[in-house]
Amino acid sequence: MISKLPELTTTIFTVMSKMAQEYGAINLSQGFPDFHGDPLLVDLVERAMREGYNQYAPMPGDPQLRAQIASKLNNNYGSNYSEETDITITAGATQAIFTAIAASIHKGDEVIVFSPAYDCYEPAVSLFEGVSRQIQLRPPNYSPDWEEVERSIGPKTKMIIVNSPHNPSGMLFSKEDMEELQRISVKHQLLVISDEVYEHIIFDGNIHNSAARFPELAERTFITASFGKTFHNTGWKIGYCAAPKVLMEEFRKVHQYNVFSVNHPIQKALATYLQDAQTYEDLAAFYQQKRDLFLDLISSSRFKYVPSKGTYFQLLDYSEISSEGDIAFAEWLTKEKGLASIPTSVFNANGEDFHQIRLCFAKKEETLEQAAAILNSI
Ligand code: PMP
Ligand code: GLN
Repeated sequence: MISKLPELTTTIFTVMSKMAQEYGAINLSQGFPDFHGDPLLVDLVERAMREGYNQYAPMPGDPQLRAQIASKLNNNYGSNYSEETDITITAGATQAIFTAIAASIHKGDEVIVFSPAYDCYEPAVSLFEGVSRQIQLRPPNYSPDWEEVERSIGPKTKMIIVNSPHNPSGMLFSKEDMEELQRISVKHQLLVISDEVYEHIIFDGNIHNSAARFPELAERTFITASFGKTFHNTGWKIGYCAAPKVLMEEFRKVHQYNVFSVNHPIQKALATYLQDAQTYEDLAAFYQQKRDLFLDLISSSRFKYVPSKGTYFQLLDYSEISSEGDIAFAEWLTKEKGLASIPTSVFNANGEDFHQIRLCFAKKEETLEQAAAILNSI
């Protein structure tokens, strides 16, 4: 048999974006902005290309960019990452996550994954013959039950994967959640992947509880991040992994024979751009305003919701409108009403259906208004 992943089909993001295109629907499914990022960043990429940064970048990434990242992490979270040994630039967070799993999961190792989860974790675990152990999170709050997590740990448990702010629910891990994660991972000697791609998209004055804030946790954690999410350029596919030297040495063994290094001019441009310390500051307010506008526009619709606390996704519960499954409902909404969303049951390992769809509000005001008009008409 050729297939190493016989159960897998095409990712829901490709399926829904394609359906949106076919039916001319407004696309609030796949998570990407429909507006441009900062034109300065584009100018800086052009400048880097003209200055000749068109050959291979150093294997772990541009040193100046790694230094910017280490100093951001250390300033924001009181950590102690070294740009030399602890940071590697990757082709998006996806490659960082894949590489961390490839570098550390052996056949039969068990990996705890929360469900619903972003869809790239489980296939990588399976590919390296690990076994996922699912912990189900539930609406309305999607909070983890750490006792259940601890009960699911056995002699083969090697890793736990967490993601806060959480895609798709918009839930945040509290300080107490992170302390529990730290306690459990230290006690049971687990590795951790902390997927923090939405670290700067966090609302209502909450702070991001990065794994980097918790020293004993940080010692065993691969933090993964995405510049695509942070700077509205998801197509640039650039991100990074931060981990202590012992973990990063293993990570780089895989990285150097997978991609070796990633897009050089974009790394140079980001290194220059990040010298401006203001760069991240407005992002949370920018997206909070979009969330608030969107929720305001649909406040009298028949959809129910808990406001997203972070990410640029909002879940909507449609159970007052239809008793159909969420895949059928999302298809109907796209084909018949012209609005594409993501059915959330596909993020649940057991396919459990909470009758919720996920909508991306990283969109221009007019797009959100058009989408709201459709949601209000149902
Ligand atoms: N993790 C989560 C939770 C995501 O939503 C995404 C999508 N951006 C990724 C990882 C992958 O990020 P990237 O596009 O940088 O590969
Ligand atoms: N992270 C984005 C989302 O959750 C999509 C990324 C992708 O298309 N693979 O919608």
